[in-house]
Amino acid sequence: MSTPSTAGRPAPLLGAADIRALAADLGVRPTKTLGQNFVIDGNTIRRIVAAAQLGSEETVLEVGPGLGSLTLGLLDAAERVVAVEIDPVLAGKLPDTIARWRPERVAALDVVLADALRVTALPHEPTALVANLPYNVAVPVVLNLLGRFPSLRHGLVMVQDEVADRLAAPPGSRTYGIPSAKSAWYSSMTKAGVIGMNVFWPAPRIASGLVRFVRREPPTTRASREEVFAVVDAAFAQRRKTLRAALAGWAGSPVLAEQALRAAGVDPTARGEVLDIAAFARIAEARVHAPAEAQNDAGTD
Ligand code: SAM
Repeated sequence: MSTPSTAGRPAPLLGAADIRALAADLGVRPTKTLGQNFVIDGNTIRRIVAAAQLGSEETVLEVGPGLGSLTLGLLDAAERVVAVEIDPVLAGKLPDTIARWRPERVAALDVVLADALRVTALPHEPTALVANLPYNVAVPVVLNLLGRFPSLRHGLVMVQDEVADRLAAPPGSRTYGIPSAKSAWYSSMTKAGVIGMNVFWPAPRIASGLVRFVRREPPTTRASREEVFAVVDAAFAQRRKTLRAALAGWAGSPVLAEQALRAAGVDPTARGEVLDIAAFARIAEARVHAPAEAQNDAGTD
């Protein structure tokens, strides 16, 4: 590898030759299990960083920094980067890579060797999540981090294009489902572009999509997030059924399901795919927090 130089030019980013050389040095062979597709194109990194709309005072949480392609771009745009990586070889190498390519930014990076699905504490409170996510766990990672770190105000993630569509889907659309409804509890998500396959090594077989999100308040309700998410899960487990039928198991009977739906102002013959997260919250509240006598009065059928 040649030594990067910054004289008079934009800060250098990792290209295909750098990524391959780093991987060869480490003896790393990208694994599918960990969703290891590394970005080898500086323009794509610039595009992701620009789309993330970061303020210079922000602390960015990056999940899966890999060989450091995106980390370098993030260090140019934000005050700090906290990078959570599950692969010990990649996590171990990252500080060296940053020391070589951005020596002046070494102190702005924290590397946390951890599973993003389980991480509970970070060295700094992150304000933004920006990541090229491992595709097989992208949705649970996003939901877990939004739930776990309320300081995350906004973010931009790259996921499989199809998953990007699902995360950003509004109620009533063909792709609306569990990821759309649950992510809407925390944030408003919008699609921010499509990325082709050739900017990765190894190239995935499918296109990727960018999703931008901005945190918002969850619906006002006496039901907990877990109670609301249980209704979402039940409604979409049998998405072709009417809500009266789909929610019968969750409510205890079709009659109790109908009662909760009517109390929530929802048509019992509708399907889950037309409900926004506020409607799911009203259903949860109507059932879980209904007066005891109302629940006792309802028969089963
Ligand atoms: N950010 C790098 C890039 O854009 O080139 C790599 C992105 S690659 C799609 C996904 C990265 O996530 C890999 O480095 C992989 O080891 C890491 N990873 C996979 N599962 C993870 C998990 N559960 N927690 C944290 N990192 C994970």
